[in-house]
Amino acid sequence: MTLRVLVVEDDREIRALVQSALALEGFEVQTAVTLGEAGALLQHSPPELIVLDLGLPDGEGLQLVQQVRRQSSLPIVVISARHQEAQKIALLDAGADDYLSKPFSVAELLARMRVALRHRGTALAAAVTTHTLDDLQVDLATRTVTREGQAVHLTPTEYELLARLVRSAGRVVTHRQLLAEVWGLEYTAHTHYLRLYMGQLRAKIERDPAEPRHLLTETGVGYRLADE
Ligand code: CA
Repeated sequence: MTLRVLVVEDDREIRALVQSALALEGFEVQTAVTLGEAGALLQHSPPELIVLDLGLPDGEGLQLVQQVRRQSSLPIVVISARHQEAQKIALLDAGADDYLSKPFSVAELLARMRVALRHRGTALAAAVTTHTLDDLQVDLATRTVTREGQAVHLTPTEYELLARLVRSAGRVVTHRQLLAEVWGLEYTAHTHYLRLYMGQLRAKIERDPAEPRHLLTETGVGYRLADE
C-alpha cells in the first residue's frame, strides 16, 4: 500500500527537497503552500500523514492542527525554525505528533514519520503495552520495569510518568502534557516536579544518569523516551 503524505510548506526549496525525498522512499506526496490549499486537499484526498510548516502565507500551522484534530487522529509532524519554540509547543499541545527543527536531514524526517505512523497510522494499531530498548524493559500490562533483568522499584508517580512516555515511545511529550496527565490539569505550571521526578527515574533506569540513553531531554519542550 502506498502511503499518501501531505507536505504543507511555503518555502519552495524545503518543499521540493521533502517532496523528492519522500517520493524516493515510495510515498505518494501531495504538496500545499497555504492553509487553504491544505484544507482543500484534506477534503478531497485525505493523506495518511501531514508534514506541516509553522508559518504559512494565510495563517498559522496551529489552525490546521486544530481543524484536523476535531475530526481525526491523522499523524502530524511539524517542521519549525529554531526560534519558533513557543509556537512549536502550542502545536504539540494541540495534538501534533512530533516536530523537527530546520535545518533537518531527510533521515530525521523519515524517523519521525515512522514513529508517528506506528502510533497513529491506522485505527487497527494495538495500544502500546510493552517497551524494550537495550537493558530496559517496561510492561504496562503487569506494571513491571526491569533493568538488566532486575526488577526496578518505582514510586506510583515515577511509574505513571514512565508509562506515559512508553505510550508515546519515540515521540516528544511536552512538559504540559506530562504534568496534566500525570499530576492533573492544575499542575501544568509546576515544571520543577518534572525535573525532580525525571532525575529520580534516571537514577533508577539509566546506566549513567548524567548521559541518559532512555529518557532524553528536548530542551524547552519536553521529554522523549528513546525507542531505537
Ligand atoms: Ca513558512
